[in-house]
Amino acid sequence: MKILVINAGSSSLKYQLIDMQDEKVLAKGVCERIGIDGHFTHKTDDGKWEFDVAMPDHTAAFEQVKLALTKGEGKVIDNLSEVSAIGHRVVQGGSKYDRSVLLTDEVIADIKAFASLAPLHNPAHVQGFTAATAAFGPDIPQVAVFDTAFHQTMPEKAFMFGVPYEYYEKYDVRRYGFHGTSHRYVTDRCLKLLGKVEGTRIITCHLGNGSSIAAVKDGKVIDTTMGMTPLDGFLMGTRCGAIDPSVVTFLMEKENLTPAQMDAVMNKKSGMQGISGVSSDDRDIAAAVKEGNPRAKLAWDMRSYQIIKYVAGYVAALGGLDAIVFTAGIGENSSALRAEILEGLAFLGVKVDAEANAQRGEEKEITTPDSAVRGFVIPTNEELVIARDTRDLVEG
Ligand code: ADP
Repeated sequence: MKILVINAGSSSLKYQLIDMQDEKVLAKGVCERIGIDGHFTHKTDDGKWEFDVAMPDHTAAFEQVKLALTKGEGKVIDNLSEVSAIGHRVVQGGSKYDRSVLLTDEVIADIKAFASLAPLHNPAHVQGFTAATAAFGPDIPQVAVFDTAFHQTMPEKAFMFGVPYEYYEKYDVRRYGFHGTSHRYVTDRCLKLLGKVEGTRIITCHLGNGSSIAAVKDGKVIDTTMGMTPLDGFLMGTRCGAIDPSVVTFLMEKENLTPAQMDAVMNKKSGMQGISGVSSDDRDIAAAVKEGNPRAKLAWDMRSYQIIKYVAGYVAALGGLDAIVFTAGIGENSSALRAEILEGLAFLGVKVDAEANAQRGEEKEITTPDSAVRGFVIPTNEELVIARDTRDLVEG
């Protein structure tokens, strides 16, 4: 069975075609600048093809994907009918969806309704569904896999915000958490490495451009750093993370900013970028720190400090800690940040294995055998989770 995994954004569409027999990625790529000018990239084992091509909308983008999969040098299938199902990443599933589901009219209506909570993402996903149906026909099964689903086990005391209760009732204002598919993947791997589920207390750190941490007890999330939107938590590439909420109203008044402008400041101009003035990319920040740039160092130190505080708080929430997992671009690659976080947990009896931690990008235990808590790097694979869920739902 071959499954096409789709991640549709407002101006981009990422895809992977996975053969479920051996879970091999046959092809992957991305349509960028949809509705602007259009840039297409397609990769297989045999090579990479990249070109500019007009893609006025998501349907046009799907046409390019179809062509790339079935024709020319990058072709990996003879016919579209070889694709058995399509799995879509969906950012916001509200309080209703605690697992992946087959796309029906009702599910699509719900995803549209949750757009008020994810205005940049959910409408784009709906465009992705429509374009997929146009490209593959109405009979192909399609599945929605929600970023929020894995966090739905959080208790009320963790997901409620201390604003009047009526806003929860009226507008569903609460913590949802994101990156759930990634936290779920690395949790499953970690539980396998621990050899048990019941009685386990783990913390999963997804550290990428966007970053979040989850506290997982007995395999279920009990708390996570991202909130109603992916802005909450700690310093990210361009997002501020948690700040005193009064800073928002104060700056809006002082700088005469609209809500949309303030939103852009917090989402796009803050975080590592905003503090360092160097870049949002961690490699640039690390290089600037090495060169002695004081603001890059400040950004780096702020993030480590905030992460250690969250992790230590979650240890209390979990009543102890068996394992901590690092994943995503920074978590998998930055041995310096991992070492700093683990050293910050030395009071728990955490002992870093410096040699193991120096390696990058592969699944690895990075603490010593006598460490009181086991530390792991586990490369994430959200597309594989989406493909597996899609297969499971299609096979019933
Ligand atoms: P997202 O999926 O949220 O866009 P990723 O998980 O791909 O982000 O992570 C991107 C981040 O990972 C960037 O800040 C990048 O600098 C960082 N990163 C990638 N490779 C390395 C590396 N070798 N060392 C340190 N950081 C890295």
